[in-house]
Amino acid sequence: MNYSVLVVDDEDCIRELCEDVLPMWGYEVDTAEDGFQGIDKAKTGKYQVVLTDIKMPECDGLTVLEKVKAYDPQIEIIVMTAYGTIETAVNAMKKGAYDFIMKPLSLNQMQAVLNKCVEKIELTSKNKELTELNRRLRELNEMKEKFITITSHELRTPVCSITGFVELIKYSLSGILEDKPETLLSELETIVKGLADIVSDMHDLAAMDLGGFKLTKENLNLVDIAQHVKNEFFPILKDRQLPIEIHSPDVLNYKGDKRRIRQALRELVQNSVKFTPDKGKIDILLSQENNRTIISVKDTGIGIPPDRIDTIFERFYEVQDSTLHSSSDTAFMGGGLGVGLSLVKEIVISHGGKVSVTSQSGKGSTFTIELPCEES
Ligand code: ADP
Repeated sequence: MNYSVLVVDDEDCIRELCEDVLPMWGYEVDTAEDGFQGIDKAKTGKYQVVLTDIKMPECDGLTVLEKVKAYDPQIEIIVMTAYGTIETAVNAMKKGAYDFIMKPLSLNQMQAVLNKCVEKIELTSKNKELTELNRRLRELNEMKEKFITITSHELRTPVCSITGFVELIKYSLSGILEDKPETLLSELETIVKGLADIVSDMHDLAAMDLGGFKLTKENLNLVDIAQHVKNEFFPILKDRQLPIEIHSPDVLNYKGDKRRIRQALRELVQNSVKFTPDKGKIDILLSQENNRTIISVKDTGIGIPPDRIDTIFERFYEVQDSTLHSSSDTAFMGGGLGVGLSLVKEIVISHGGKVSVTSQSGKGSTFTIELPCEES
């Protein structure tokens, strides 16, 4: 990288000298003939180093130093000072100057100080990159640990159930057990479906990491999609006395990816089902206003504590202890991977929209998806 140096000095000969020698040392150079002009130029953000004379009329080098540092503390300032004013130079260093050069100028000293200064800039930026890399690695490691804890819990339960049911079916077929194999098989089917859903979530997460979802957009009637999701949950919710009501116009057209929009709504409803006690209520509200399509899912469930509300869209984040979940994903406080909302967020963003939540602990939550309408 070619570093840009701004030379601020009221002496023409110094500016001219710098314009001649700095490019020979590999620096880009610009000049300002007084402190005011120096500050204005430095504020353009084009320079990494400002080389300023201290003694200038009206706006001196210390003022340049203060104003430029206040604008951007990353800009390094080197002050030039005459012999006999060493205290001023020390004062400048206390105020944040990187170093000072004595006047009359020695080109060797000037080159050495400038080179040292850019080495420091490079080191600082490398350190910043390393700190950022470390932070990211720590995050990934935490995510990996959460992933292992949650998936091993969520996978172990259905796998144990499958093993148990296979045993039972064997007993049933050999006549030792009274239960009919068909009944056992239908329960087994439900567990296998749950397992397939987990694998499918994992697949979607991987797709997200490989550059987001590829959408296939078509004209949709969102009311049909909401009805489909409601029907899916109906058999389970009858037992839990947890009705789902749809509030919408007769038809609500939207151009989007059918599978993904249905998945997003399903994830929100599934969460309401899991986090609302029996005899509660779930509402799906669909509307269109000001060229925006709004899909809301409102429940009368346990709600989300205010200090967790920003975190729930993160992957593998669950407010409750995942190892204490009920094994069913449709029971109250049922299990999950903690990835549903991050998938919803990704689907909504890939459609150009946003998702938000309002919630009150113990009273319920409302998740709202806002999508820009496209020409159908
Ligand atoms: P999962 O549901 O698989 O745990 P999600 O990413 O869908 O993962 O949700 C993350 C967490 O957000 C849930 O574990 C739960 O703690 C909280 N949450 C999501 N939806 C609701 C809701 N409707 N009511 C209360 N808490 C919710």
